[in-house]
Amino acid sequence: MALKFSFLGSGSRGNCTLVESDQWKFLIDLGFSLRQTSETLRYCQTGIENLSAAIITHTHDDHIKKSTVKRLASSNVTLFCRNEHESRIGNWEGFKLLREKHLVRPYADNSFEMLPGVTVQPIAVSHDSPATHGFVFDFKTGNSQFRFVYAADCGFPSTDAISKFIPDADLVALEFNHDEEMERRSGRPWFLINRVLGPQGHLSNRSAANLLGKTKSKKLRGVVQLHLSRDCNRPDLAMTEAQNTLGSLPVHQTAQDTIGPIINIA
Ligand SMILES: [Zn+2]
Ligand SMILES: [Zn+2]
Repeated sequence: MALKFSFLGSGSRGNCTLVESDQWKFLIDLGFSLRQTSETLRYCQTGIENLSAAIITHTHDDHIKKSTVKRLASSNVTLFCRNEHESRIGNWEGFKLLREKHLVRPYADNSFEMLPGVTVQPIAVSHDSPATHGFVFDFKTGNSQFRFVYAADCGFPSTDAISKFIPDADLVALEFNHDEEMERRSGRPWFLINRVLGPQGHLSNRSAANLLGKTKSKKLRGVVQLHLSRDCNRPDLAMTEAQNTLGSLPVHQTAQDTIGPIINIA
């Protein structure tokens, strides 16, 4: 089974990633408007109507949009989420329609089969939205397995929870949110700076790089940097931090308004 990972965009204004095999297609997070979701999927030569499922990490506005959920429902796409997520999205028209169609599948703490050949282990992280999770996806590819770890909004105590899954990962997509110095000097209100830097905020370049440096194994083929802050990070700083601990391992960067990277696994 060949796999394709298309990072459609990542940042504080929207997160969405398309994962495909020849048997299914699913989205991780729905943080784009319906128009942007449709346009980016069209670029990838597909559409919402061709999806088998979507799974969300949490319900901050940059990870789930009402208009996109509504289209999921009319296209009969299964949504995987936590029961706790309903406190924000439970009253949305699209969510109610999904529920009526029995297309809402709550995930709990244990691993579960999301699609044929796709097992997901949720990772609870400390980010400040109810029941925020990262995911470990295990894909059965013929006789071999491929492990993809995805963690977009973390908070730094989460590095312990994520770290045990990195040694067996083939591909890791991890938040490189901010440069700590740029965040401190940003001129933003103090409450916002403290939130981002605090235990329930976001992972800094250094925290993310240290986590990967300590736990990576020879199995790891590449790293994708997610959720770079527009105001408090620079692509070159995030890249340098990663390369300091990862050496020559391929490091890819996502952007907010540009599709990529697109990674094909034969
Ligand atoms: Zn976010
Ligand atoms: Zn968030």
